[in-house]
Formats: sequence, structure tokens, C-alpha cells
Amino acid sequence: MTIPISSLLIPNLNVPGNAWPIIPNQNSARMLSILFQLEQSQWLSADDFEQVQRRQIGALVHHAYMTSPFYRKRLDEAGLSPDRIRTPEDWRKIPLLTRDVWQMAGPELYSTNPPPQHRKTSQLFTSGSTGKPVMVITNALTQLFWNAFTVRDHLWHRRNFSGKLAAIRFVSGNACDPPHGKMGQNWGPATADVVKTGPSATLHIKAGIDQQVPWLLEQNAEYLITYPSNVYALARFAEDRGIRFPTLKEIRTFGEILEPHVREIVHRVLGLKIVDMYSSQEVGYIALQCPEHEHYHVQSENVLLEVINEKGEPCQPGEIGRVVVTALHNFATPIIRYQIGDYAEVGSPCPCGRGLQVLNRIVGRQRNMLVLPNGELRWPSIEVDSALQGEQEIPPIQQFQVIQRSLEEIEAVLVTPRELTEAEKKLLIDWFEASFGWRFDVKFTYVDHIPSSPTGKFEDFRSDIAAQYMASRFSSR
Ligand SMILES: [Zn+2]
Repeated sequence: MTIPISSLLIPNLNVPGNAWPIIPNQNSARMLSILFQLEQSQWLSADDFEQVQRRQIGALVHHAYMTSPFYRKRLDEAGLSPDRIRTPEDWRKIPLLTRDVWQMAGPELYSTNPPPQHRKTSQLFTSGSTGKPVMVITNALTQLFWNAFTVRDHLWHRRNFSGKLAAIRFVSGNACDPPHGKMGQNWGPATADVVKTGPSATLHIKAGIDQQVPWLLEQNAEYLITYPSNVYALARFAEDRGIRFPTLKEIRTFGEILEPHVREIVHRVLGLKIVDMYSSQEVGYIALQCPEHEHYHVQSENVLLEVINEKGEPCQPGEIGRVVVTALHNFATPIIRYQIGDYAEVGSPCPCGRGLQVLNRIVGRQRNMLVLPNGELRWPSIEVDSALQGEQEIPPIQQFQVIQRSLEEIEAVLVTPRELTEAEKKLLIDWFEASFGWRFDVKFTYVDHIPSSPTGKFEDFRSDIAAQYMASRFSSR
């Protein structure tokens, strides 16, 4: 584990006369011990890894069977008592947990007797991007693992802990509102037990780009964490005005799909690399970007991740399928074979030597999937301005969103200073055809502003029909 020596200053010292090597307090010791194990487990072979992971899965399934009426019924109905789940084929007989099923299960899903040693419990409601909220009960153990994977990400990417971390994101309440945001003394509770960090600053994502840029310049931060769509907007703004952020070393993204063109513009305009992470409120960290490549390593000490095809079978490297996750440590809300709503492409073993499963990319949520009338599926990456570069008449588009309304029709919602000319419309229609592989009927709509979702996330493409289409196409398991 490579922690820079300057940061090896474990806070909360409480042993008189001890200056070095440091004797950590209980919280620090616990975190360091998990990090030590994570450092080792990442190098295990896939087979060895599976063996240790299976112990945890066994404990989870047994607990769910004994204390969750929902899982007891599910497993009984499938003829699967916990001791009869021995092979991957047995495992795949466990029906998928969808948000609909989760909602319908109500209180039956939660454990009636979570281990008291997992300590204090909190609840969070999460609606993902589906508008179907479910409740997750978390506890000190899930929080501990969240913190450990946060630190693993820092260690993997060799961050300088003494630097300043700036965040532009959704925050509940108004403490981080523009123009000033909120300052913090350190990087937050995830790192506090094991490393002394520099300060942090957080600005609410509702700040406009013209507010974000001066704020960020003022911070002199080394790291910025925000959403991919916001990084893209920042880079565009910076490009137009020749702005640079001289102190920034790296941009970290989360919460949305990171498209390759966002990495490209950030590298080209700002000279920075992006490190992306894939997490969810329901299960915590799912995958982190490899320290040496742009693909992702599944955080298999935290989740069992499956990518499955339409028949429910595992996808092979290069194939795209549904992401199904099992949260290994939440014994208050057992989450077993949860169809999280994302699709991902399976990767081959990584040359970096880590045995952790590889995802080449996370391609998107079901609702971001374009359904072609011939049944093909696409996850469009839409970058109108670069697509139209070199054209004579570039349409004056300030903001756009493309929505699939039916199998035949897409709607282009545009913010423009005026309506487009017929020639400009044709240009867009041709470009849609080229990038979607289909000539849709295109309807143009003009608006003053295209809002992000309440949590600040923006989708440049979404489909009104994908969910219904996939429900009819996939069998229930
Ligand atoms: Zn790797």
C-alpha cells in the first residue's frame, strides 16, 4: 500500500508518549486492517477470489433466508434452501430482484433480526433514475466499507492527501449554495480515521457554470469531483474563454455515464485526466477505475456483480448485458441479485495484474437506451457540436436533449436563439441517422431551458419506451 509518508499521520492519537510508529485508535485500526486486506485481495486470482467471496455470500444468503420473510419465500419457491446453493447454476436460479418487486415486498424484505454488532442503523430512500423509490436500511458496517473503498480509490490513484479537494455536486440543504459554497477542514469522514488530509470545498450543483468557474479558480484545489455532464460543460466554457485551472491535477467523476468524448475534451482543453467511479446508493461502490487503464475493476469485496444476457446467462468479454448486484455486507437490507437498471460491457482480465473482474464500460441505464424498430439496441453518445464541425451552417444550439418517443419518432428538444432553418434541421436529421443507424421521424421542440433532474444529473438522451420494450423482451429472470 503506497501512502505518502507525509500523510502517514493517523489522527485521533490517544496514546501518551507515542509519536512514531503510531499506535492507532480503534476506528483507525479497523480501517487500516480492512485496507490491508483489500491490498492483498486485489491480487488474488479469480478462482481464489471466488472462494473467499463465496464465504461471505453464504453468510448473507443464510441470514436472508432466516430473517427476511421475502427471501425465505423466494428461495423456498425456487427450491433453494441456502445449503443447496452450491454452483453458479444454482445461484442463477435465484430470481432477480427488480425495483418493482422490492417495492411490492414492502417490509417483508428487510431483516427482522440484523446482527446488533453491525450497529446503528440509518435509512435512505433512493429513486435512482427510475422514479420508483425504495428504502435501504444501512448500518455502521456498510458505512465502514464505503469508507474503505473511498480510501482504496485514493490509494489506487496515488492522490496527494495534503492537497485540496473541491466538489461540485448535489447536496441536500442550502449550506453549499452558490456563490461561496462550504469549506471543510478535511476530505470528510471516509478518510478521517486513517489519513490527515488537506481541506475541502463543496459547491451545490445548482450553481451555473459562470458561477462554478470563478469559485473553482479561487479554491486552488488539486482535485475536483463532480458529474460527467458538469465536467463537460466546464471544459466547454473553459475552451471558449481560454481558461485553465493551473492547480488541478485530476478530475473525478461519478453519478452519470462517463462518455469517451468527455475524457477527450478534458484532456485536450484542460490537460487533465478523468478518474471515474461507479457506485449506487443502494449498494455503495460497484466499480472503480483501474489505476493504469480507463476500464473499471469491480469492487468484489463489496458486491458480487453479474452481467447477464437476455437468457439470464453470464456475458462474455466484449458483450453488453444487464448489471445484477448482490451487496455482500448489508444484513439489514439483504440485496441479492438486484437488477440495478444499468447495462455494462464485460472486459478481459486486466494487464495490471489485479484479479478483480473488469468492466470495459458502463453503457447506461435502461432509460438511456435507444430501441431501433428492428430490435437493435444502442446507447447513443451525443455530441452535436463536434459532429457538425466542418459544416457550412452550424445550427446555433445552446443546449439539447434527445428523447425517443416511440419506435419511429425521436424528439430533439433544443435551446436556440431562433428556430432552425430547414437546412439546419436536415443536417441534424442526417447526423441522427448516421449516429443512430436509423432514420427516425424527428420532431423539433424549442424551449428556454432544459432542466437537470432534481439531483443535478443531466441526460442528453433518454427513451420513453425502453423500459416497456425491455420488459416485454426479457423474461422475468
Ligand atoms: Zn487493472
